[in-house]
Amino acid sequence: LCNLPKEVYQHLACYVPKIYCLGPNLNPQNEDLLAPLLLQSPLEWYLCGEEPSVGLAKLEQNNQPSQLCGHVFKVGEPTYSCRYSCAADPTCVLCMQCFLGSVHKEHRYRMTTSGGGGFCDCGDTEAWKKGPYCQKHEPNISDSSQKDPLANLSDEMIARTYNVFSIILKYAVDMLTWEKEDELPEGLEPPNTSRQTKPLRVQVMHSSVVAHQCFALKALTWLGQIIRYSDALRRILCQVGLQRGPEGENSSLVDTLMLCDSKMWKGARNVYHQLFMSSLLMDTKYKKLFAIQFAKNYERLQSDYVKDDHDREFSVTDLSVQMFTVPSLARMLITEENLMTTIIRTFMDHLRHRDLHGHFQFERYTAQQAFKFRRVQSLIGDLKYVLISRPTEWTDQLREKYLEGFSAFLELLKCMQGMDPVVRQVGQHIEMEPEWEAAFTLQMKLTHIISMMQEWCSSDERVLIEAYKKCLSALTHCHSGFTDGEQPITLSMCGHSVDTIRYCVSQEKVSIHLPLSRLLAGLHALLSKTEVAYRFPELLPLSELSPPMLIEHPLRCLVLCAQVHAGMWRRNGFSLVNQIYYYHNVKCRVEMFDKDLSMLQAGASMMDPNHFLMIMLSRFELYHIFSSADCRKRYNRENANKDVVQQNNTLIEEMLHLVIMIVGERYTAGVGQVECFDEIRREIVHQLCIRPMAHSELVKALPENENKETGMERVIDSVALFKKPGVTGKGLYKLRPESAKMFNLYFHHYSRADQSKAEEAQRKIKRQNGEDSVLPPPVLPRFCPLFASLVNILQCDVLLGILGAVLQWAMEPSGGHWSESMLQRVLHLIGMGLVEEQQHLLSSAEDNDTNFNFTLKISRPGEAPANTPSILALLETLQNAPHLEVHKDMIRWILKVKLIQISLQSHLIGSTVRDKDKAERKRKAEMARLRREKIMAQMSEMQRHFINENKELFQQSLEELDPSTSSTLDSCDSTLFCVGPRRWRAGGSDRRQVVTCILCQEEQEIRIDGKAMVLAAFVQRSTVMSKNRKRPPHNPDKYDPLFMHPDLSFGTHTGSCGHIMHSHCWQRYFEAVQAKEQRRQQRLRVHTSYDVENGEFLCPLCECLSNTVIPLLPLTKTSCRYCNKHTLDFDLQLQWLNITSLQMKALLSAHRKAKAADADGVDDMDGVNDCPPPDGFKLDYTPKNPYSSTIKEMLTTFGTATYKVGLKVHPNEQDPRVPIMCWGSCAYTIQSIERLLVDEEKPLFGSLPCRQDDCLSSLTRFGSACWTVSSHATVQNHFIRLLAALVPDPRVENTPCILDIDMFHLLVSLVLSHPAVFSLDSSGLSADTAQLYFLHLVTVAHIVQILLSSVPEEVQMEQESGGAEREEEEKVCMFYNTLRTHLGSGLREVDSGWHLWCCVKAGILPYLRAAALFFHYLNGAPAPPELHSVGEWEALCGYLCLPSNLLQLFYNNRELMEPVLHGWCSHPGVLQGLQSSVALIRESNHLIELPGDYSALINQASSFTCPKSGGDKSRAPTLCLVCGAMLCSQSYCCQSELEGVDVGACTAHTFACGAGVGIFLRVRESQVLFLAGKTKGCFYAPPYLDDYGETDQGLRRGNPLHLCQERYRKIQKLWRQHSITEEIGHAQEANQTLVGIDWQHL
Ligand SMILES: [Zn+2]
Ligand SMILES: [Zn+2]
Ligand SMILES: [Zn+2]
Ligand SMILES: [Zn+2]
Ligand SMILES: [Zn+2]
Ligand SMILES: [Zn+2]
Ligand SMILES: [Zn+2]
Repeated sequence: LCNLPKEVYQHLACYVPKIYCLGPNLNPQNEDLLAPLLLQSPLEWYLCGEEPSVGLAKLEQNNQPSQLCGHVFKVGEPTYSCRYSCAADPTCVLCMQCFLGSVHKEHRYRMTTSGGGGFCDCGDTEAWKKGPYCQKHEPNISDSSQKDPLANLSDEMIARTYNVFSIILKYAVDMLTWEKEDELPEGLEPPNTSRQTKPLRVQVMHSSVVAHQCFALKALTWLGQIIRYSDALRRILCQVGLQRGPEGENSSLVDTLMLCDSKMWKGARNVYHQLFMSSLLMDTKYKKLFAIQFAKNYERLQSDYVKDDHDREFSVTDLSVQMFTVPSLARMLITEENLMTTIIRTFMDHLRHRDLHGHFQFERYTAQQAFKFRRVQSLIGDLKYVLISRPTEWTDQLREKYLEGFSAFLELLKCMQGMDPVVRQVGQHIEMEPEWEAAFTLQMKLTHIISMMQEWCSSDERVLIEAYKKCLSALTHCHSGFTDGEQPITLSMCGHSVDTIRYCVSQEKVSIHLPLSRLLAGLHALLSKTEVAYRFPELLPLSELSPPMLIEHPLRCLVLCAQVHAGMWRRNGFSLVNQIYYYHNVKCRVEMFDKDLSMLQAGASMMDPNHFLMIMLSRFELYHIFSSADCRKRYNRENANKDVVQQNNTLIEEMLHLVIMIVGERYTAGVGQVECFDEIRREIVHQLCIRPMAHSELVKALPENENKETGMERVIDSVALFKKPGVTGKGLYKLRPESAKMFNLYFHHYSRADQSKAEEAQRKIKRQNGEDSVLPPPVLPRFCPLFASLVNILQCDVLLGILGAVLQWAMEPSGGHWSESMLQRVLHLIGMGLVEEQQHLLSSAEDNDTNFNFTLKISRPGEAPANTPSILALLETLQNAPHLEVHKDMIRWILKVKLIQISLQSHLIGSTVRDKDKAERKRKAEMARLRREKIMAQMSEMQRHFINENKELFQQSLEELDPSTSSTLDSCDSTLFCVGPRRWRAGGSDRRQVVTCILCQEEQEIRIDGKAMVLAAFVQRSTVMSKNRKRPPHNPDKYDPLFMHPDLSFGTHTGSCGHIMHSHCWQRYFEAVQAKEQRRQQRLRVHTSYDVENGEFLCPLCECLSNTVIPLLPLTKTSCRYCNKHTLDFDLQLQWLNITSLQMKALLSAHRKAKAADADGVDDMDGVNDCPPPDGFKLDYTPKNPYSSTIKEMLTTFGTATYKVGLKVHPNEQDPRVPIMCWGSCAYTIQSIERLLVDEEKPLFGSLPCRQDDCLSSLTRFGSACWTVSSHATVQNHFIRLLAALVPDPRVENTPCILDIDMFHLLVSLVLSHPAVFSLDSSGLSADTAQLYFLHLVTVAHIVQILLSSVPEEVQMEQESGGAEREEEEKVCMFYNTLRTHLGSGLREVDSGWHLWCCVKAGILPYLRAAALFFHYLNGAPAPPELHSVGEWEALCGYLCLPSNLLQLFYNNRELMEPVLHGWCSHPGVLQGLQSSVALIRESNHLIELPGDYSALINQASSFTCPKSGGDKSRAPTLCLVCGAMLCSQSYCCQSELEGVDVGACTAHTFACGAGVGIFLRVRESQVLFLAGKTKGCFYAPPYLDDYGETDQGLRRGNPLHLCQERYRKIQKLWRQHSITEEIGHAQEANQTLVGIDWQHL
């Protein structure tokens, strides 16, 4: 009817530029509104043939969705894989939801965070061998997966969909791959209505192109959304996309997109990759077709990728994992598209730098080549995907194509065989370290491929034999004519001779890279495992082998290692040392060192052992030593250079070790007769023989396969026991005692260091068990038939000759001509011979006659004319040699076993001998035990003796240790009061306090007029007790800190390590630190863990971070006026208040007068009434400062420091806020310690560590003295204002309402500022009485505060309580009603006295406890014993001299209290505050609750987006453990400026949330982060552990992690103790690299 494509194009041509070319000033949201309306909606209408919302809903309803989950992972989202063998390959992952509903939850699983891209494999039956579906994706009984989804759709619908999809997809592809800027595709030219001139038109076209490209992306997204409604639509889209275009092959729209991939911008790539994933890869039929197209284009795509500069995640090549890991697809691509060969060839094509022999040459490659090399490596990843699942059945076609790929792979290995050769440097040191890493990178990347190639071969005998032949011919080709130019020589020893070539490792080229030889070694062992090898070995292609050729290069490589150990290659530098290291390292050794050893075993098994050993001696360059007839007298005759002798000794040791390994390493399947887990079991045993190890340490020591599995879990429990960790440390595996018998001192994977550690550990265990400490060679499994002849090495003439020679040398003490290790190895070899013989004898019953007769051979003396003694004879002699003490037990063991052997041979039954052996051992153990007991008895006897002699001394020290006898309470009163006129007073002797300076060690008495003693202290701002983290920080210059708000949002905490110094000693120390720091900073720009410029230093004794010192002061001597008046007279209080009030009045007017006089404002004098002071109050009196000058100086020092840190201002000792900050810090510190004691469930007194006890006591006494160094008028003025808050006084302005005051701070400030006023008073009032009255008033105020703010919403049922508290309940009810009469409707009606009293008691307890601590430290009154235990109300009130019914404070003194109460309630702030005030039942702050399962946190973090960059994922989401905020850390997007420095989100948050101190959890890293200030930080172990009791910092291992409450509580305790900064300091002192980190950027 009409031409649809044309019409659509016309529509788009008209509207797209209009919507997407809008000018810059228009609202960009219009795009989002207009595009769906004008562009998408018509398409949807056409598609559905009706209202889209109806049509699409219908589609969705009829849809029978496939069972694939297909959830596409976000960056950082948790993914799960099963570590049982459920998955087809390790790339199979589940999303969190599917995982939780799957069977694998119960299996051992791995949890990782996704790097983005990739999707959930749930429901893919090919991806899973077991449990492919979660509960949600379980298929219905009517299996719909086979049915064609199109069957559900009407024909018209199919046709319409087909039309729309082909037009839109074509449009999008055209636009995205469009390369011309000034022209549009046909049909999209703008409607010809414009009258614009030409140049302008070009511009319009240009923006039109951009507009169409924008819409093209939208169109692709739209397609992705539409196909979600129905699998049928998805299938149609796939069909449209893959339909071959007019240009023939590879011209479909999908092909076009792929082939233009590298030309597109990132955003476009992302969008179409997403579409591919949700369409082509979700449809089983089209996934296959797409895979074929992908393979066809593979080479081109990879070449484009290598040239491109975007990361692989933005390349279409990254989709390979989605197809190549599907076994059926991989198999199909190998057979039909020859994928293996394609990948390998493409890889080779990109590595072009070769030397003359065609070997890769990385030696001097450029940065650009290095870059390319890195990109090319992703091809190896693809090859790995293809090979990852081995075929279960082979077709001829698969065999053919696999072998073709194998040949291509051999070509690759050929280029590596012999690359990067080295030549020994003599004379001078190497000039430039040669590049070696690239070659090893390649080797490492290929390691798993090589292993997988072998596994494929091993699954089909025909393939194995063919591959073996191909490999052999490739190797032969490589080494054809390896004898060229090298003269043949003849070696002869002990009556044997052999021809070989002349070749010296120390003089000629040698390479560590021999992948071809090693692959052949691997295949040889596999061949040896096959049935053919057992039955018809003649059918194997072994006749073509030339054993000397096979062993030549691996032997050279091993000799190279030996020579490096012997120090012969020192001049070749570190590059060689590193190569040797990696050669043996767990990452490479499987396909390097291990295979070289196998190759020597294979070669030797096919050679005469004497010939083999002679060639070996010759390559070790030791032939000349052992070949001469009188080699047994080597060093008598040889007068060689000492270094050379030393070198040769090491070489002999290495050579003997190699022989031990060749005969003794039988745990490779195919070499020895072992089961598949024996090898790994043996590895574990040998690791644990060194020491007990954590799970992760073991994992690191074991080789991982391509699935990152070591296979350890299957066997570990059979050889080891697990021990759980405590609050620190890790869980450990310990070797089961019975497994120690497998221990082999010469285990091939031990380094020399491992070996000596293991030897020591094993000997120690044996000694502890009372056993002989000898470590004989273990019993070994038998060799496979192909390798069986290797045992003959042990009894061959050449080896016996060598052994005899070394034993002969050892007859004399070593003058350097033999070494202990050499002898140890010889003895081990002899031991191996005996053990081997024993095994042969024991099995000889079933086996036919054995020709292994070691005992006979070693008993045979040398032949005439030399007539040397036999090995046995030598051993008999050596057994008594005094210089061989360490080897004696081994020699004895050998001689004993030999005896057993002989008895075995004479058909004695072995068991009786073994019984005898056992009896002997038991007897020895018994003797050892007796000996030990005797020694113990002797020792304890000696101790007793010593104590008797020094009896007095012990008595004394015991008494000192007992606290009950040392602290005697000689108080005049039986009840103890800490405050008030009846308070406890220190006698003269109690006040005397003598301390020792940690710096000069001198003793010093603390006296008012003495030298000042100081305590190292650390003052910090704190929000630990804050109940309002939203309160913005104060402006430090204007802030008036006199009244602390009850939310305690910011406080100043003072801590101390408790170490005491003379003030002058400390000053000298601090000056020295300063000077040193200045010098150091000039030299090197490194930070220290402390900031000297800010006054920080480390305590000279314990290195605790400090930033000031507190002076130590004696207890104040209070004159004992009214001391005898024991009754508390409430009338007196009224009188006292009246007098005080008069005093204040006078003081206030005097201050105003003085101020007015200063300002010359004479006319203001009118308002100020002249108030005469009451009797005995001297306004002009200036009290004498009693302190010595050094104490005064220290008072100023500490006061200024507290002021500076607490307000974050510059130090100013004149500032009126200095004393306020000191009182505040005293109050805050006491409050925080009170909370800490509650949290730790410790009693109020007697449980504080000394350092805190000392700190609080000096802090409080300092508080009471600090007014003496401030302006008295200032302190008096503070006092007036403080008192006015308590006793409202209309003359004082800006008094806060009582709901806005923390009462404990008020109490402390009142008490500590009072002396400044009191000192003027000579009327005879007592300071103690005043303290008590303050306490009374503040307590009542606090009760009011609690009642006003904590009354519950709903009144609960009246509770009956015992008569004891009845009175309190009545009183509190009355009191509450009194309050209501003052405040009226503002206060709810409550008639439950019980409840009110509960509120009051709970609310006031922290205050009372803090007050008890305060007066205890201020007045030195010892605490009653009741307060040393937990339950406390009565004792507490008693100690504080308060009635236990606190309401009596009000009712016994109503005359005074009523007006005061009225004053409080009439403050305008009270009614306002009633609605909003903080609940005053103070509970301790906790760190936030963490989920039990760590993946819940990962999930939470993965949906967290950066708050500043519009929905982008945050790279390092970090959780504040204090308030629970998630932050975007370590990223520029969230940097902000703080005090002129750019800081990261964490540091910025720290200042708002923690007053500079922060505790965070870095979610991606599973790591706790402590921050302090802008420069300090450290990492701390997270509270999450895996099942092995280990943390996983960096989330590398992927074991499931669970919250460990104990460890989390430990972190919380550090925080509550204000020890975070200190912890950081210690961490930084211990680990200097932490100092260098830019913490402020986190
Ligand atoms: Zn899923
Ligand atoms: Zn699922
Ligand atoms: Zn599983
Ligand atoms: Zn001193
Ligand atoms: Zn200290
Ligand atoms: Zn926070
Ligand atoms: Zn951010």
